[in-house]
Amino acid sequence: MLELDAVSAGYGRLQVVHEIELTVGEGELVALVGANGAGKSTTLRAISALLRPTAGSVRFRGERIDRLRPHQVTRRGLVHVPEDRGLFGGMTVEENLRMGAWTTKGATVKQDLARVHELFPILAERAGQAAETLSGGQQQMVAIGRALMARPALLMLDEPSTGLSPKLTWEVFDAVKAVRDSGVAVLLVEQNAHQTLTIADRAYVLESGTTVLHGNGPELAGDPRVRKAYLGL
Ligand code: ATP
Repeated sequence: MLELDAVSAGYGRLQVVHEIELTVGEGELVALVGANGAGKSTTLRAISALLRPTAGSVRFRGERIDRLRPHQVTRRGLVHVPEDRGLFGGMTVEENLRMGAWTTKGATVKQDLARVHELFPILAERAGQAAETLSGGQQQMVAIGRALMARPALLMLDEPSTGLSPKLTWEVFDAVKAVRDSGVAVLLVEQNAHQTLTIADRAYVLESGTTVLHGNGPELAGDPRVRKAYLGL
């Protein structure tokens, strides 16, 4: 459903990612892992049209999207949750969720809200609470829930484990798996390679802006090269 063909991108004269090849299939959970500064966020920006690739092409459901505007990409069902989450802290959990429904023009909000509450029951319990008063893990669920309100076919998550303990990271990752199990494909970007590879159907390892390894998630977690370079084992 998503296909990157030799995508290069960067900032001004600085090229950060070089000829990336990456695919995500229907309903797949694909991880993109790599060290700080490897170019993971830049890759996501090039996909969601926040950055225009300097070379290569990005196709989503057969259509080229690398010349579209970000909101046009969102409307086609590809939703990007950036690393800072972008929640409105003083607004309630439910108000934040409703903000995500701009693409559906309100017609299906009730139904979509019910679906998000079913996936993340804690968000129903905390519906009237200000988002900023939630724990980090719960705030991440609000960010994911808000993205789901736009009815994505593919959700891109940038480091949802940032600032979370390993235990809360597992909670968020369980939520990510629940999203995948509900039929939404996920492209998950993480520095935290070990936990991420364990849950991914497939994964890519990015080094200095290039994908150096690719394979089944749990298999990569056991790959000696990955264990040495990323897991310090
Ligand atoms: P991190 O986990 O730190 O976000 P990352 O793998 O996502 O790492 P990127 O954020 O894509 O890496 O950054 C890759 C490189 O691009 C870094 O050298 C960074 O300094 C540079 N970079 C990122 N954003 C910008 C920007 N807006 N302008 C200029 N350079 C940038």
